[in-house]
Amino acid sequence: MDYLPIFIQLRGEPTVVVGGGHVALRKVELLLKAGARITVIAPQLHEELRALAERGRLNYLSLEFQPHHLDGVGLAIAATDSRVVNAAVSTAARARRVPVNVVDDPELSTFIFPAIVDRSPVVVAVGSSGSSPVLARRVRQQIEELLPARLGALARFVGDRRKDVQKALTPAQRRPFWERIIGGLVGSRVLAGNDKDANKAFDEELSASHDPKTPAAAESPLGEVYLIGAGPGDPDLLTLRAVQLLQQADVILYDRLISDAVLDRARRDAERIFVGKVPGGDHHSTQQRIHNLLVSYAKRGLRVARLKGGDPFIFGRGGEEIEVLAENGIPYVVVPGITAALGAAASAGIPLTHRRLAQSVTFAAGHALDDESLDWRSLSQPHHTVVFYMGVAQLPRIIARLLDAGASPVLPAALVERGSLAEQRVVRGSISTIARMAQDEKIEAPALLIVGEVASLAKADNEVLAAVDAAAARVTA
Ligand code: SAH
Repeated sequence: MDYLPIFIQLRGEPTVVVGGGHVALRKVELLLKAGARITVIAPQLHEELRALAERGRLNYLSLEFQPHHLDGVGLAIAATDSRVVNAAVSTAARARRVPVNVVDDPELSTFIFPAIVDRSPVVVAVGSSGSSPVLARRVRQQIEELLPARLGALARFVGDRRKDVQKALTPAQRRPFWERIIGGLVGSRVLAGNDKDANKAFDEELSASHDPKTPAAAESPLGEVYLIGAGPGDPDLLTLRAVQLLQQADVILYDRLISDAVLDRARRDAERIFVGKVPGGDHHSTQQRIHNLLVSYAKRGLRVARLKGGDPFIFGRGGEEIEVLAENGIPYVVVPGITAALGAAASAGIPLTHRRLAQSVTFAAGHALDDESLDWRSLSQPHHTVVFYMGVAQLPRIIARLLDAGASPVLPAALVERGSLAEQRVVRGSISTIARMAQDEKIEAPALLIVGEVASLAKADNEVLAAVDAAAARVTA
């Protein structure tokens, strides 16, 4: 280790920044956050620094740097574009044993600035010992995505209650208690911004922990369920919260729509359970099994992630799952996901609404057509887009219904198979041609049927294929 990482208390500490440009400004902003008493020394000043000086946030000396400027100073920074001046600051600082940083010059520095993830009071600092600031920033970015936005709130929540816990619990009890608080229900409530439930759960945990009559409650606290929308398959379309909770979960329930690339984002040592339909199994028993697994794992105190394709509340039976959880008193979090219609529309280049072409959009289930639950007349109106989920097997019937309800035979339609994934295929035609095209191209689930004027904007593969076919035909002729 070339540098020792430490966090330094600078509140009220006299610090000197030599240089008045935008690099100096960035350092001044950091020092201000840490509450330092700043003097900027430079013949000229960046306008934002000038504004800070006018508001009394810093002290400005319009002078050339002199070594005595560092007398009695706690920290010095050189941020000029002159190496001679920077070296003079470095020499003067070292002579006085004042820690000094020369921006972008580790050789002249006795300390360097790390890349920072700021979730105050939690701060993560990443350094590369000066060898590659770009790499350090990249690592910082990865950490930035992993850490919940409200991590600081969780740290404050814990900090506020430390004294109470010290009074109530023995030292041996404290650590497992905090592990349960931070990693469990209380932590996830605070991170979700729900302080009311967090406080309640905290009080219950604390009284259970020091009440000798209920040791069982303390040993096996209730787990919880994360109902996570995994989006259409591309892992980059997961939300930050989905990734954070996937990293926490002990058990992961997933089905056919969840890609391997998405599962790879889960904690390595989490137990993974496939809960998709099995050949010969029926919908009802599959769903019943999911409910049983959710409840039994959560009752064992585990954190269970139920990963669902797209969004949990769009044709995902998420509503039924939360009913079961509520009946069993199991806490849950719902994380929205990018539903297939949005993912497929984006990657096929179909704006689902368009100022001139469509002012409304409907997401419809295409598989349950026997009942009259869909209003085909309104779905067939002009200036309207309909996205049919689960419709591939029923394509001819969907088209027949639309035509019956008055849709024009030339109304554009597109099919997007495995939208947002590398294997995505897009077929574009009209409602009178699309069923035939789907058959020719052997389009299979999961795929979406998009009907409406906007479907004509799809970037379709069949045009490319048709052009290839035509060229091939010319060659062989
Ligand atoms: N909850 C999911 C939908 C589940 S229903 C969501 O919000 O997306 C399953 C149907 O979703 C499939 O039959 C198919 O119509 C559609 N679907 C899911 N993933 C898809 C994808 N990557 N591309 C196209 N359609 C998809």
